[in-house]
Amino acid sequence: MLGLCGLLVRRVAAAVPAVEEPAESVPVETWWSGRVRRDRQPILRKDGQVLPLIDTRVSFPFGGLTADSEVLTVIEMPTTDSTVMNSSLTGFVTAASPFHPVDDGWPDQGPDRGTVTIAGVVVDVVDVVLGATSGNNLLTSPNIPVRRGEPGWAFVVVHVVAPGSPVPAVGQTVRLEVDPVHRDELNHGHTACHLAALALNAALADRWRKPVAVDGLGHPNFDQLALANSRIHPNAATDTYRIGKSLRKKGFDMVDWDVQDAVQRADEVLAGWVAAGVVIRIEAEGPGLTDRRSWVCELPEGEERIACGGTHPTSLDGVAAIRIGLTLTDAELVMETKVTRR
Ligand SMILES: [Zn+2]
Repeated sequence: MLGLCGLLVRRVAAAVPAVEEPAESVPVETWWSGRVRRDRQPILRKDGQVLPLIDTRVSFPFGGLTADSEVLTVIEMPTTDSTVMNSSLTGFVTAASPFHPVDDGWPDQGPDRGTVTIAGVVVDVVDVVLGATSGNNLLTSPNIPVRRGEPGWAFVVVHVVAPGSPVPAVGQTVRLEVDPVHRDELNHGHTACHLAALALNAALADRWRKPVAVDGLGHPNFDQLALANSRIHPNAATDTYRIGKSLRKKGFDMVDWDVQDAVQRADEVLAGWVAAGVVIRIEAEGPGLTDRRSWVCELPEGEERIACGGTHPTSLDGVAAIRIGLTLTDAELVMETKVTRR
């Protein structure tokens, strides 16, 4: 991770066009068919920067990979990487973006990779982070002092380019392109992570001695009750569960627990879902970065929905298998999930 701190917006733009009607070659309507709120309510600062008052409109939840969009804000971001001689990186915000940013609040899915084309020059996007502004400065994660969705704050996608790269100007339209292979692998890792959690819930259902909250399939929700952190990798995921007194108090029985038996049972459940050709969709309450979104999956046993801000495939077509491994220590259960593609 980059060591990013509270940042002052200070790069001065060369020229700022009228901000009322941005030139957008990919309008939000192409990926969002619902009601679109007022298009933009920008603050035009004296230094030419435009600080948006609404979230970046994002297309990644619906598979978006490219967008042409106007640059609203350009910021300098210090780096703690001592191998980088020029100790600052440049980040920029656009009105719309296909890039998924990492959120330090719950960093399960990391940033997309890809490029930005600035006046015909293709530049690598080296990181994508969450930013937020209430109209003064633009702060980047992990230095955002409010929660996502805080009234009066806009949450934005900050695209970071390497030191020495060309820098876009405020008002310029740039082309954003996400690496489709890396995205596709993260999609599959993320959906497999959700499915593995449901399969684990099913495999551990008979170890509960007290009634607890259940998942959409009616199984005690071990995943929700014990999850400490989750990381999505290409075609894989790692979930860490806290196993201890509080879980025992809730009624989870750890006496004579054979986790390899749970692996076998979860893998059987997952094999059934892969064979059934499961369909997945994302439901969103709006096109903004922090609008609430849900992963909805039609399983043979019923529909499951999980609040999720990540990216996913639309089906398990092309998946040969999803399997898990479990490692139990005194304090933790670690689940490694792997997707085998056809
Ligand atoms: Zn998720």
